[in-house]
Order: sequence, then C-alpha cells, then structure tokens
Amino acid sequence: MRYFVFCKDQLIVPMPLESDLQKGSSQGSAGKGEPYLDTLVLTWQGFPDWQGFPGDDPVDVLKLAHRVHFRFENEEYCVLSLDQAEEGHFKKLAHIKVRELIGTLDSKSMALVIRAMAYANWSLVSNFCGACGSPLQEGEGEEHLAKVCSTCGRVFFPRMSPAVIVLIHKEDRILLAHNLSFPDGRYGLIAGFVELGETFEQTVHREVMEEAGIEICEPRYVRSQPWPFPDSLMVAFEADWKAGEPRPDGKEIGALGWFKLDELPNIPLRGSVARYLIDHAVEQSRKQNKT
Ligand SMILES: [Zn+2]
Repeated sequence: MRYFVFCKDQLIVPMPLESDLQKGSSQGSAGKGEPYLDTLVLTWQGFPDWQGFPGDDPVDVLKLAHRVHFRFENEEYCVLSLDQAEEGHFKKLAHIKVRELIGTLDSKSMALVIRAMAYANWSLVSNFCGACGSPLQEGEGEEHLAKVCSTCGRVFFPRMSPAVIVLIHKEDRILLAHNLSFPDGRYGLIAGFVELGETFEQTVHREVMEEAGIEICEPRYVRSQPWPFPDSLMVAFEADWKAGEPRPDGKEIGALGWFKLDELPNIPLRGSVARYLIDHAVEQSRKQNKT
C-alpha cells in the first residue's frame, strides 16, 4: 500500500522542509526525470511507518483523517485528507502545492497525483448520506471506489463536475481573458461548468456569449483533463470567431482581447489544459510560418 497525505491543496511529503524536493518545487524549475522526483515517489511508500517522525504522535492523527482508497495501474493507494487543525502535526514536513507540482511531473506521475487529489477532495466532503443523513462508510467489493450509507444502503460514487474550456481563433490571434480570480496580469481561456441537460458544445457557445459577448463557429473537441480543484473534468475545444466584438462580462471576466501568438501575456501554468491549448496553437503557428 502507498499513501498520499493532503491538506487542502497541498501534498504533505515525508521530507524535511529544507529538502531538495521543497527547493525544487518552490522554484518551479524541476523538469522531467530530475532526481527529486524519484525521491518523492519512493517516499510515498509506507508513510505511517517512518522512523523519527516529528510532531505529536502523527500516526494517531492519521487514523482520524478522512480516508479513501483507489487503484492506479494495478497498485492500491490510500489517500488521507487532513483539515487545518491536524496540519500542525506535520508542519516540519514539506508541503507542496499540488497546482505547482503537477506542471513539473511526467505524465504518469501527474495522472497519479491528480487522481489522488481528486479522491482526497471527494473524501473530505462525502461523510454523510444525502438522502437520510447517516454516516457513510467505505464501500467493499464492486463498490470499493464508492461510499455506502450505513442506514439506507445508498451508494455514492465520486462526484465530478464537467466543465468546458475553449481556445478561440480569429485570423492570427487568439482570445484571452483575465478572470477576476486570476493573479494580476494573468490571462487564460473562456471556461465554464456544464449545466444539466446541456451538451458540451452548447456549453461552449453559451459560456463564450455570456463571458465574452461573441458568436463562434461550431467548436472542435481537442482533449480532456481531470482537474481536481476541487472536482472538475475539463473538456477542451477549439473554435473560430464568427461575429461580435468581445467585451468582458465584468462579473467573472475583468478584461479580454485578441492576442498574437508571438505576443502573449502571462498565461496559465504548465500542467493545465488551458496551457496545453495555447502552447499547441503557438506550435502550429510556428510550423505554418516555416512552410
Ligand atoms: Zn442513507
């Protein structure tokens, strides 16, 4: 069994704060295959059995944590989610922001960490039956990925929230938007959650009209990516501009405009599907300019 321990959006890693791992992550410069990653993967094993664990009996604290199991490539993992009060027991260990970490990982490690974090988030908010209010228990057998109500027997599988994201082209430019929740100066893509009864394509058209006030041609599916902040499944599209002048909605989007691919502002971090779409567009544009 391997263990992940999360506290909110951070992965708690069984290494001292001053480790190479912590330095590598905080600089955001570590690349594929660098030694710190090997260390990270190895130390996930046998988490509660460490020797010399600092703090007040953290193994007892871990017994109280929200706990859920999942499988990844034939290995069983246990995810433990701590709330802030429990975090104090682990303050001498490295805490790695998952959002920054995943952009530095190879695709398999990234898939594993994303899955673990998704289970951690689900476990934290899935303690009681939504129908009768009784406590939920970990499922067994065919329901081992679910939680089961101890009274009425209802089965609750992990919840995910589908959302679309779209890169819109207009000639040699793309539409980028500053979401008011972003850091200053950061621009990303139009995105939004799928409403009940909608197709992904309908969501794309609706979100683009609501947030940017423009019409687009029929969107083209590109790829999807689970995004555990806290439980999204991002479905990514490309589309071409059709009509209208972009204007920010002023509620979610503070500013937006058309940007040339060789004059991009501050864009989302690596590891996100937004970044993938933008990088892919830049790459395609470079190829076209060469031919
Ligand atoms: Zn129930």
